[in-house]
Amino acid sequence: MSKRNASMLGDAYKSTKQPRHWSLGLVGSMKDPELIVKQSDRVVAIRDKYPKAKVHYLVLPQDDINSIYGLNKNHISLLEEFGDFYEELKENHDGATLRAGFHAVPSLQRLHMHVISSDMVSPCLKTKVHWNSFTTKFFIPYQDVLSELKESGSIQKISTELHKSLMSTDLQCNQCSFKPKNMPQLKEHLFTHVK
Ligand code: AMP
Ligand code: ZN
Repeated sequence: MSKRNASMLGDAYKSTKQPRHWSLGLVGSMKDPELIVKQSDRVVAIRDKYPKAKVHYLVLPQDDINSIYGLNKNHISLLEEFGDFYEELKENHDGATLRAGFHAVPSLQRLHMHVISSDMVSPCLKTKVHWNSFTTKFFIPYQDVLSELKESGSIQKISTELHKSLMSTDLQCNQCSFKPKNMPQLKEHLFTHVK
C-alpha cells in the first residue's frame, strides 16, 4: 500500500467511530456488540454481516495483524486459540458441518478466519467468485495454516496465476458430483442437500 493510501485509511479510521473505508469494515464490526458472539483478551468471534451459508462466523485477533501473511512463529499460540474458538462454535452447532479456514487473498483488512457451514445456502451467496472462494483451494483450511506456520514460520502467498485460475474454476457442487451451468442452478440444487 502506498504511503498516501495508508494515511488516507488512517484518517478514515481516526475521524469516525466506524471506519469509512470499506476494507476496514471488520475493524468496526469486531467491536460491535450486536455482532460479537465470543471474545477473549486475544481473540474475537463475530457473525459475518453477509453470511455465505446458514452458519458463518469470522474469528479475528484483537491485535492489529493484517492477514495470514503477517503471521510469524510468535503467533502460533494465538492461532491455536483460533482453533479453540472453532471447537466451541462447532459445539454450539451440533447439526451443522462447519469448516474453518482463510481466503488466500482476503479482500478485507485484519486477519480473519471464516467458520462456515457446508450447506452454503444464503441469499448473500451470489457470484461464482463467492462460491469458488469457499470451495476451491482458495479456501486454506485452518489446520493447513497452523501446520505451515509451525513448519516454516510464515505463510507463503499464492501466485496471481493460481488466484485467477481458482476464481475461474467451473462450478461444482461441494456435496455431490453435480456440475451446475450457472449460479441460479447451483443455488436451487443446494436446497436438495438440506435435511
Ligand atoms: P474475505 O476478506 O474475502 O476473506 O472475506 C470478508 C468477509 O467479511 C466476507 O465473508 C464478508 O461477508 C464479510 N464482511 C464484509 N463486511 C463486513 C462487515 N462490515 N462486518 C462483518 N463482516 C463483513
Ligand atoms: Zn450436490
